[in-house]
Amino acid sequence: MKKKLLSAIKRRVGKKVWNKWFSTFEVLSISEKGTTFSVGNLFIKDWLEEKYGKAIKSAVKEVFGKDIEFKVVYKENPLTSEEEKKEKTFPKSFVKPPKDSNLNPDFTFSSFVVGSGNETAFKFAKKVAMEPGRFSPIFIYGGVGVGKTHLVQAIGNYTYSNKSEVDLIYLTSERFMNEMIKYLRENKMEKFREKYRNVDIFIVDDVQFLTGKNGVQFELFNTFNELMDKKKQLIFCSDRSPSDLKDFQDRLVSRFKMGIVIEMRLPDVETRKRIARKIAEREGGNLDEELLDFLAENIDGSLRELRGAIIKLIAYQEIEGKKVGIVEAINLVSSFLKKANAIDPGERLVSVLSGMFDTSPSMIRSRSRKANIVMARELGIFFARKYLKMTVRETAKFFGRSPSVISTTTRKVEEKIKDSPSMKSYLNKILAHISPAVGKFS
Ligand code: ADP
Ligand code: MG
Repeated sequence: MKKKLLSAIKRRVGKKVWNKWFSTFEVLSISEKGTTFSVGNLFIKDWLEEKYGKAIKSAVKEVFGKDIEFKVVYKENPLTSEEEKKEKTFPKSFVKPPKDSNLNPDFTFSSFVVGSGNETAFKFAKKVAMEPGRFSPIFIYGGVGVGKTHLVQAIGNYTYSNKSEVDLIYLTSERFMNEMIKYLRENKMEKFREKYRNVDIFIVDDVQFLTGKNGVQFELFNTFNELMDKKKQLIFCSDRSPSDLKDFQDRLVSRFKMGIVIEMRLPDVETRKRIARKIAEREGGNLDEELLDFLAENIDGSLRELRGAIIKLIAYQEIEGKKVGIVEAINLVSSFLKKANAIDPGERLVSVLSGMFDTSPSMIRSRSRKANIVMARELGIFFARKYLKMTVRETAKFFGRSPSVISTTTRKVEEKIKDSPSMKSYLNKILAHISPAVGKFS
């Protein structure tokens, strides 16, 4: 049955596509109720669903004689499993945290880039790792994807590697709640308390999840007090400040406020660029610096999105077996890119050109015939017409030229581009800086 199904799909998509995209495609389970396929790569999963969903559907129909639901899931390839990859990149001194530690071994201090937005939190996290109990409690808050979890898990990983005598628990507040419920059901609250009230470092992530959950808050409050009495280290993370935790018991909130409260913010562009490099390194991919800078400049929200885009491009490069260029990247990760650009695209264009050709916006709009300026101007005119979709009239006004000059210049550049790699590369560079305002390049 499995074979039949696979060959029905193969027949539909053709051999070439099959070899290229379906190399890790397998039938995971098969039944009348539903069929599950697996692929060994997250990027392929999206791609297959998008492009070949119909073909798969009709193949399933052929084999079963009727429509049957199916889904494609991502399954790691055993040969390049996360664990093996990690082992290779770890420094020798790194001891992998035990499986039940809830820690992601990638989240270490050395893979954390320190920069604007996270410096203070980083300093304290380091301190906590070195001298647990010295600054307690610590409450770290900030929006999604600013690096809270990475940073506090780094404390955990550091402790497992370097201080085996220190007992540490890291968990999300949701996990804390589920554990509590489990122990409650089994009538073993004593055990629960024993477990959580006898640690040296206690880290609770995403405490905002406990909003309105009185019973768990109460238990956390008591855990808090007991650990504080014992001079242990407590750390909390949340997506909002203690004062903004609504539906939280006042006494718990006042405990959170008792110690050091640190806000983490999204880092600035320069820091994001360094983070992009770190993430790419961590994910074992080899993306061009230029591309990483482009991503850092144009994905300015959660660092999770930055990571998502990087992973997608790494996967793509791996599958295609060639480097991704910026233009291609724009299409692949367009959903992550900033939508609107606050600055007027025309102004942005001339400012980008000024940087590239070592001149100024006013020189580009002047009558100067200096070679670099003429080049900048011509590319600008072409770009304004083709990508910014400015009309001839608008372009003429913007560059201070007549409409007929605009038309001839546009045609001229169009011709030149056809067989000039350097012109193409200039265009790609401009696109890299401007594209989010422009939309897709196709
Ligand atoms: P939060 O918990 O604040 O939502 P995470 O810690 O989950 O954010 O971070 C999101 C992603 O960004 C993770 O993959 C993380 O490793 C990465 N990241 C965040 N900050 C940094 C940093 N300063 N250096 C390196 N990677 C970072
Ligand atoms: Mg988090």
